[in-house]
Amino acid sequence: MNQAFLDRVRIVLVNTTHPGNIGGAARAMKNMGLSQLYLVDPYRYPHEEATRRASNADDVLEGAVVVKNVQAAIEGCDLVIGTSARERRIPWPLKDPRACMAEAVSPRHQRNIAILFGREHSGLTNEELAMCQLHLHIPTNPDYSSLNLAAAVQVVAYECRMLAQGETVEVSEASGWDMPLADAGDVERMHQHMANTLATINFIDPANPKQALTRLRRMFSRIRLDEMEVSILRGMLNRIDKAVARNKAD
Ligand code: SAH
Repeated sequence: MNQAFLDRVRIVLVNTTHPGNIGGAARAMKNMGLSQLYLVDPYRYPHEEATRRASNADDVLEGAVVVKNVQAAIEGCDLVIGTSARERRIPWPLKDPRACMAEAVSPRHQRNIAILFGREHSGLTNEELAMCQLHLHIPTNPDYSSLNLAAAVQVVAYECRMLAQGETVEVSEASGWDMPLADAGDVERMHQHMANTLATINFIDPANPKQALTRLRRMFSRIRLDEMEVSILRGMLNRIDKAVARNKAD
């Protein structure tokens, strides 16, 4: 059993409305041996309904970390997976839970792995999905594709366990790459920096930047930036910022 992998899986529930779903998710997690629960700005929490639905998984519930936004929830992760009940306008690599977890268990990923779950009524926003490297869709009846939130967590947590039970992947095993993958928080700051710089040089219109920035995000999510690459890109952006400031001063 690769418990180390299960320990690195972080279930992130974004703006959950029903406390019962938070409890149900905690129970689903504990059944499958997961423990990292992050709650992004939940409507009602703590709540007795959450505790009741968690049954004996109140330790997972009590250990839940409440954060303000998705950015804070993905700090310390090197893979961010967004779950979605339907397809979006800009297609991202869309995988089923098994394929996603097969990728997550790869020794390339040594930090935490965040799996984002959306709001009961509206799912994840396009901006939140653009922060993810992979989009996960649980195959369903196309005419009725939206699972209950806690049920979706159950399916994904089950696939995590199946992988952890399979061939044990040694995390220490070198993946043949010379640098660790970048922290998702640093990648997010790089994207924000890039958006600002691109607006300053009029490459994008800050009033209408969406498509170009989303496509850039998709490109970088395909590459999977490492620490050094993020630092080179930040250095490059800093130089551009300085050159622009110098030009303006002249
Ligand atoms: N009406 C929303 C559905 C939200 S369901 C929408 O159309 O997007 C609440 C959450 O459960 C989703 O954001 C997602 O995290 C998860 N979920 C539900 N069904 C899913 C599916 N088939 N595949 C992956 N995640 C799913």
